[in-house]
Amino acid sequence: MAIIKLYNTLTKNTEVLTPVHEGKVGMYHCGPTVYDYPHIGNIRAYTFADTLRRTCEHVGYEVDQVINITDVGHIVADADTGEDKMEKSAHKSGKSAQEIANYFTEVFMQNLSDMNIKTEGTHFPRATGYIDEQIELILHLEQHGHAYTTSDGVYFNVATFPDYGKLGNIDLKGLEAGHRIGENDEKKTPYDFALWKFSPTDGPKRQQEWPSPWGTGFPGWHIECSAMSQQILGETFDIHTGGIDHIPVHHNNEIAQSECISHKPLTNIWMHGAFLNWKDRKMSKSDGTFTRLQDIVEKGISPLAFRYFLLQSKYRQEVVFDMEVLEASQTAYKRLLARIKAVLDMLPANAESSVSALQKAKNTITEMICDDLNTPQVLAFTWEFIKDDQQFNQLSQSDFKKLIENIDSLLGLRLTEAFKIIEIPEHIQILIDARSKARQEKNWTESDRLREEIKSLGFEVRD
Ligand code: AMP
Ligand code: ZN
Repeated sequence: MAIIKLYNTLTKNTEVLTPVHEGKVGMYHCGPTVYDYPHIGNIRAYTFADTLRRTCEHVGYEVDQVINITDVGHIVADADTGEDKMEKSAHKSGKSAQEIANYFTEVFMQNLSDMNIKTEGTHFPRATGYIDEQIELILHLEQHGHAYTTSDGVYFNVATFPDYGKLGNIDLKGLEAGHRIGENDEKKTPYDFALWKFSPTDGPKRQQEWPSPWGTGFPGWHIECSAMSQQILGETFDIHTGGIDHIPVHHNNEIAQSECISHKPLTNIWMHGAFLNWKDRKMSKSDGTFTRLQDIVEKGISPLAFRYFLLQSKYRQEVVFDMEVLEASQTAYKRLLARIKAVLDMLPANAESSVSALQKAKNTITEMICDDLNTPQVLAFTWEFIKDDQQFNQLSQSDFKKLIENIDSLLGLRLTEAFKIIEIPEHIQILIDARSKARQEKNWTESDRLREEIKSLGFEVRD
């Protein structure tokens, strides 16, 4: 089996993946907080997780994958003060927290499917489905002196975990200053964090609350990941991912909770995806400046072209969102499909392939992706390979198809669709272009009319 090397945020080294259970990789990805639409930055985080899964499967591992659904307890501010994002969204919309969670979970799942992100066998546990397990962990922490109760909740005592802040070498002094605003005076240190919060006694009654040994309330955001990862993947699993924003607080808190209970590493490799940003700031759900997948689709960009755009950068590189670059990526993606089809048509159906040429190409691709998921290199290699007509003296159609399938199992760009491309006559293409323009202008009547006209000429458009 090929060796996979991954950059570990904890050790700051690129390390060889050595699974805890032979032949099987357990991975946990911090999931979306389902109080609003996912934005395309969030989608980048799960495209990275998907590339990781595809890479492990590509070299022959079985993958056990978890993406949790945060449907309770994610407080607006990291300092454990302020409103729960779910409750806030429920109040604003007049819907129940449950309805909101269901709706945005469905949107999230649809986005994953549109992006061709694999979900077969993936666990999508909801935090509200693991309340008893979270209470169990908090009880354990309390019994072993890691937790204490204040007037508004139960807190983790960071002083009892000397390694606190080890992920990303967090400057606790800096964290301390950041936490002073609106701080709870009853905390022993400013970076102690909530394990369980009591329902507020004033203001509107919370929709999501549960009885507990400490009083009615709800779990803190961090404990859910410790509970669900332990339940589904065990005490130490292979890889934990999230965006870089999770390093200083959320992931250090997960480590503190889980490792105080198990006395084992929570995970062997910590991986963090860089942001998809606006030119000058992070794309974020909470400040309402985000772009949804649907927004770019309405501008004529297909989700797979967006995937192509993302794969052009390594997951650890920050990417600036730019509509012009996205359009150029869409053009490049279409050209790639067209070139694959052209090569296929050029190749002899029954020729003997040179096994070594084919194997060499496959090995090169595997080597590139196993080098900390180097998707830009795989894309560049694919282009180089299919551009060079010399290669094709040595390939049969069926072997070329196999090679493209191999590449696509990693990139997830549905490159095999290219095999089915047929020549579109010019008069039909004119109608298709006119329909795209009508859709961009949101002129649905005209776009429907054009769809019918195209249909009457024997072609069907699928978006
Ligand atoms: P959230 O729903 O906010 O909890 O975020 C879901 C995932 O998206 C987490 O792994 C975040 O770290 C990640 N994330 C949030 N904003 C961005 C962004 N602008 N670019 C890339 N990833 C992001
Ligand atoms: Zn998490």
